[in-house]
Amino acid sequence: MNTTKILQERIRVAFAPGEPSFEPAAPNAPAQLSSDGCLTLDLPQRIAAARNTVSGRIVFTTSFGIEDQAITHAIFSQAIAIDVLTLDTGRLFPETYELWARTERRYGRRIHAICPDRVGVESLVACQGINGFYTSVAARKTCCAVRKVEPLRRALAGAAAWITGLRADQSDERVGISFAAVDPHHRLVKVNPLFDWTRERVLSFIAEHGIPYNPLHDQGFVSIGCAPCTRAIRAGEQERAGRWWWEQERKECGLHGRHITQVPAPAQFKDFPKEVTP
Ligand code: SF4
Repeated sequence: MNTTKILQERIRVAFAPGEPSFEPAAPNAPAQLSSDGCLTLDLPQRIAAARNTVSGRIVFTTSFGIEDQAITHAIFSQAIAIDVLTLDTGRLFPETYELWARTERRYGRRIHAICPDRVGVESLVACQGINGFYTSVAARKTCCAVRKVEPLRRALAGAAAWITGLRADQSDERVGISFAAVDPHHRLVKVNPLFDWTRERVLSFIAEHGIPYNPLHDQGFVSIGCAPCTRAIRAGEQERAGRWWWEQERKECGLHGRHITQVPAPAQFKDFPKEVTP
């Protein structure tokens, strides 16, 4: 199979639609974990409520941002039975890898890496170059599909619930998220324990508990992802403005919500430039 066909197959797998008839392992969880009902609960209590409501495996995927560090603290310090994983794209900041190690030392727990498929990455780089994501939105989404979205599907396979660090006020795209909802794409219940928290409240929680955080946050980096695709933001910009800053459209990578419908068209592969022009 040539590299283009391999990439097309990886993208097909990454974005394969959920089944309309899917029945979540915990069908009553969204009702039991209502947004109104959790308002008086602190963060560890919210996560414990999810654990007590959902039977089966629960996965938390951390990208080591402040929200995820707060959740990691709650899980590890309360010894809540939730698997903590991270998607190691291979393009993270050195500071992020250092924070990963520091967090493991702090809590004495391992944060498990989910890596991209080797053949997928080799095909990606062969097709579009090592930094091909700068050349078009389709190329960028292809890179995210190989390095993030397909690994996420493997990370969540068989899980009954997925804990995320999403907040409603992070961007226009995230307004309206709730504490818990069925995610038919990943065939599980998605739990967002920080859905109603502000960034200031998260920062207070981090400071109050002495939780380790990425030093890039002190340099204007608010939402931190892969190094080549993240910059510090300017005053007045939205929190996710520093992600894929050269693009005008939504600042999402395909891990969350309706963005999963934005699949790169296979026909666009033939248009990948041979040279990188960041
Ligand atoms: S954020 Fe950038 S480097 Fe990371 S997976 Fe997406 S396009 Fe690739």
